[in-house]
Amino acid sequence: MSSSSLPRLNLRNLMLAMAVFSVIITLCNSLYATYDVQRSLLINNTLEANRVYAAKLAEVTESVIAATRQQLAYSAGQLVTRMDDEAALLAETARLHQQSDTFNSVVVVNAKGVIIATSPQTLKVKGVRLTSASARQSLKAKTPLITDPFVSPAGNYIISMSHPVFATNGDYLGYVAGTIYLEQSNILGRILGQHYYQDGSYLYVVDRHKTLIYHPNPDRIGERIRDNSAIDDVLQGHEYAHPVINSRGVNMLAGFAPVPSTGWGIVAQRPKAATLAGINEHLLRVVLKSIPLSLLTLIGIWLSALFISRPLWQLATSTGLMSRQDAQADISGVRSWYYEAAQLKRAILRGIGRLNDRIDQLHTDSHTDALTGLLNRRGMEQLLDSYTQQQTPFSVITLDIDYFKQVNDTHGHDAGDRVLSSLASVMKEQARREDALCRSGGEEFMIFLPQTSADNAREVAERLRQGVASNPMPVVGHITLSLGVAHWAGNDESTKTVLNRADQALYRAKREGRNRVAMATAD
Ligand code: GH3
Ligand code: MG
Ligand code: MG
Repeated sequence: MSSSSLPRLNLRNLMLAMAVFSVIITLCNSLYATYDVQRSLLINNTLEANRVYAAKLAEVTESVIAATRQQLAYSAGQLVTRMDDEAALLAETARLHQQSDTFNSVVVVNAKGVIIATSPQTLKVKGVRLTSASARQSLKAKTPLITDPFVSPAGNYIISMSHPVFATNGDYLGYVAGTIYLEQSNILGRILGQHYYQDGSYLYVVDRHKTLIYHPNPDRIGERIRDNSAIDDVLQGHEYAHPVINSRGVNMLAGFAPVPSTGWGIVAQRPKAATLAGINEHLLRVVLKSIPLSLLTLIGIWLSALFISRPLWQLATSTGLMSRQDAQADISGVRSWYYEAAQLKRAILRGIGRLNDRIDQLHTDSHTDALTGLLNRRGMEQLLDSYTQQQTPFSVITLDIDYFKQVNDTHGHDAGDRVLSSLASVMKEQARREDALCRSGGEEFMIFLPQTSADNAREVAERLRQGVASNPMPVVGHITLSLGVAHWAGNDESTKTVLNRADQALYRAKREGRNRVAMATAD
């Protein structure tokens, strides 16, 4: 397989990718969870805070109205005997108007609905007869009353708080009323408006007909609120909190509380966006705080991935170079510290071991003669190559069995084979460890004697000749050998020439009568 077709992914990268993926997923998940929990916490807290705030302001409004009623009741008591006394009426209206800043104006109206005193006098409505339905509300009620908003004779949009004046005999004499100018600075604004937030939070008050009687935007006072079920509920006397969409389409978190004595509803609200504004910053802080640990986790995982994948990586790269001599050493050096890697390493080493054994066996087979176990021609050529390379001087003995054809003819080919194998055994017995024995073909053999002079080689040849000649072979009896000896001094002469010279010597031994040793002559 060419390296270009190998898959690019490896275990380490896969583990890394998996780790990075899971860290990112975990981080996103915890961020989302944090965001979600924070968001609903913020929304619920804001709703609850607005509900409590609206309820508190409703309570304050309630007690201010109770105190105001007492003021009016006191004035009504003062006026019982003075409804005809213009100076006293003026003094009382002025006192009621100026003593506190509860009312924008104070009027006294007689039983016929005619204004008989005002403060401030600049109103110039004294003597005016009240006609509008709203304005005559107080007149008809003959009880303490807070009117619906209406336009006063002086042209102000007002609500009026009144208290009837009854004579001691029970006759209705008229009423004293304090008015609140809804479109101007008034007591409602002072109670409710001072907590106006910068972030778009505000509160407003509706009367029992859903008409705005207080709103931070004065233009909206007098406007009728429609399609707001929350307002319906608060006017039913329920206190609660709810997300709403205001008239400008802005999502608001609103708290509602009723003012029972007047039938009003107070709504405190904060834009949802303003409530959640801090959450992104908060989330960023969470991210920044998570980064170091996440990075540490990633580095830890990266190192673990390296550590875990290392043995497999080493095994994989070493097996890629299996042909290399030192692959086995490389693989032995791999630190396989866990089960799978250890098993793989063992299996690969076993595989390489078997492969090497097979290669060795094949090598031996291809260089060895099967019948005698001596080197064959290929083995011999390799031997000569190494002598040449290392310039090892050697002597060579070539030998041929005399009249071997007759042996075959007389005793059969199998007996001949046994003779060849017995002769090989004799040769092996007599050879030194460093000598190399070779069957060069048929019944011809060669003995290579490294670092051995021609004379010594002749002695070896002679000893072999005598040994063979004097010891009969099984079945076939006595055989003899003819031998030729030549020497190579490690010079420029080719080894082939030396073998030729040895052959020539052998032929000479044959010619001279066989069963003898002949020395090669130097060319
Ligand atoms: P000489 O060498 O003395 O001149 O006579 P020779 O009869 O030995 O003659 P030659 O060397 O020409 O004959 C070789 C014979 O060796 C021919 C063949 O039958 C026999 N031979 C060659 N190889 C084998 C073998 O592997 N097994 C057996 N049994 N015989 C073989
Ligand atoms: Mg022969
Ligand atoms: Mg022969």
